[in-house]
Amino acid sequence: MDHYDVIIIGTGAGGGTLAHRLAPSGKRILLLERGGYLPREPENWDSHEVFNKDRYLSGEEWIDKDGNPFKPHQQYFVGGNTKFYGAILFRLRERDFDDVQHYGGTSPAWPLSYADLEPYYTEAEKLYLVHGERGEDPTEPPASGPYPYAAVSHEPRIQQLHEDFLATGHHPFHLPVGVDLNESDPEAGRCVRCDRFDGFPCLTDGKADAHVLCVRPALRHDNVTLLTHAKVERLEADGATVSRVVVDRRGERLEFGADVVVVSCGAVNSAALLLRSELANSSGQLGRNYMAHINSGVIAISQTPNETKFQKTLGVNDYYWGAEDSELPLGHIQMLGKSDRNILRAGAPWFAPNLALDYLAKHAIDFWLTSEDVPHPDNRVTVDRDGRIHLAKTYHNVQAHRRLLAKLKGLLGDLGCHQGIPSRTILDQRIPLAGVAHQCGTARFGTDPKESVLDVNCRAHDLDNVYVVDTSFFPSSSAVNPALTAMANALRVGDHLLDRLGARAEAAVNGKRNLELKETA
Ligand SMILES: Cc1cc2nc3c(=O)[nH]c(=O)nc-3n(C[C@H](O)[C@H](O)[C@H](O)COP(=O)(O)OP(=O)(O)OC[C@H]3O[C@@H](n4cnc5c(N)ncnc54)[C@H](O)[C@@H]3O)c2cc1C
Ligand code: SF4
Repeated sequence: MDHYDVIIIGTGAGGGTLAHRLAPSGKRILLLERGGYLPREPENWDSHEVFNKDRYLSGEEWIDKDGNPFKPHQQYFVGGNTKFYGAILFRLRERDFDDVQHYGGTSPAWPLSYADLEPYYTEAEKLYLVHGERGEDPTEPPASGPYPYAAVSHEPRIQQLHEDFLATGHHPFHLPVGVDLNESDPEAGRCVRCDRFDGFPCLTDGKADAHVLCVRPALRHDNVTLLTHAKVERLEADGATVSRVVVDRRGERLEFGADVVVVSCGAVNSAALLLRSELANSSGQLGRNYMAHINSGVIAISQTPNETKFQKTLGVNDYYWGAEDSELPLGHIQMLGKSDRNILRAGAPWFAPNLALDYLAKHAIDFWLTSEDVPHPDNRVTVDRDGRIHLAKTYHNVQAHRRLLAKLKGLLGDLGCHQGIPSRTILDQRIPLAGVAHQCGTARFGTDPKESVLDVNCRAHDLDNVYVVDTSFFPSSSAVNPALTAMANALRVGDHLLDRLGARAEAAVNGKRNLELKETA
């Protein structure tokens, strides 16, 4: 059995970022990824293929709380879900780290503060090429410096939207977006500023994803190996130490050992893997407190055509902590990627005639509304005797979301739009459980081993050598997008692991050398 210093399972926002941090250490690192490389092909940007034919979805079935099978929006590739994400890379707000009262219950405090994560947020923003403008978002937490790259500019219809939000007393801001775009020197970036950003993989490698920015550079180190199509089935332990990682690689069983095993399969799959392995669950909390945000896409119909290509540039957080008529938080509003006929059809099949869809797509301004999903122990991942994943979910903070939706709908006239048409409404029965994009919270970290699965360094309380660095560790979900927090935390845990392996100095020297080589290349 091959033995490594570190095995990382999963190459998404958590695992990919950790691999990048550990790679310069010289330690032997094995990345195990159940997917392959995402094919670069014209279909990457074909909305019919991506949204109507589900070309890149895994096709697997999970089971809901009533025993009905459903197809989760899961995609398994090197880079994980960051191959498809909208790359809106937010820091959590300072207060998100404290207990916060919501309509649907209390969102619990984190065992560390915003200040503990701040240096790692700063590093993660650099690593993931975040463009933004500090000082515009009234809820923004303090930062030790400006964004590493200037904000992505608004196109004319979104600039108008910005003016209209201002005129109605709001504080619109430039979304923090991770993209390889240089507007003053287009030759210097890979992004061609198209309308295929949100939910599509990027054909030009312009999106700041974990594959391009972390896994690919990590693999330039001889001490790092990636095994694709390697689905980890089980971890086996001798006492409190995991000694075997059991892999199914296209039907062949393989086994590996490592001093440190990092699970980063995404919040649902990581919980499922540990549950199947019957490990890390002395608290009974493993798999519980699954959160996924309460989300709605709202298609507003602009009175003038909306010719915007890169639409994900504007956000509004004026209702994040409440409103004049609400002492409790409502949530966050941001732009979605620009819809087209096929995207509208996938989200709203009742708009049958193509003509209407074309008209709607030409005039659509697409918003994405997010309210915090509060944790609840009965919202949970379980596995049955055959290893199949069950996902039980009831939303408890729906009132906040209804109010947020009403706020936006009430503004649409002032924003130069006709009536808003929610493409996914907030009613429980109409939220697809399958929408697991913002999954988190199934192995929360904390100081009390009876109440949490992981300790503050994201090591399983019950095991000496197992860590989890995907979004499973979140004790609460906040109402901003989760990926930057997973990335920052992976860097934080990476530093802890470098200390544990006695390799911090080595990593610093080689990491610096790599940087110098890159800068002189
Ligand atoms: C369409 C879409 C848009 C999104 N937009 C945004 C956004 O704008 N901003 C934002 O912050 N977030 C966004 N997200 C969410 C974001 O992508 C996730 O929060 C982030 O990728 C989570 O990182 P992770 O490491 O927890 O999991 P993932 O990135 O999902 O990585 C998990 C990895 O583990 C692998 N894996 C799973 N099981 C196994 C196994 N048994 N063995 C081996 N490998 C395994 C998977 O293939 C995958 O590579 C979006 C997601 C989607 C789908
Ligand atoms: S907008 Fe840029 S980063 Fe996004 S898909 Fe198009 S080229 Fe890629």
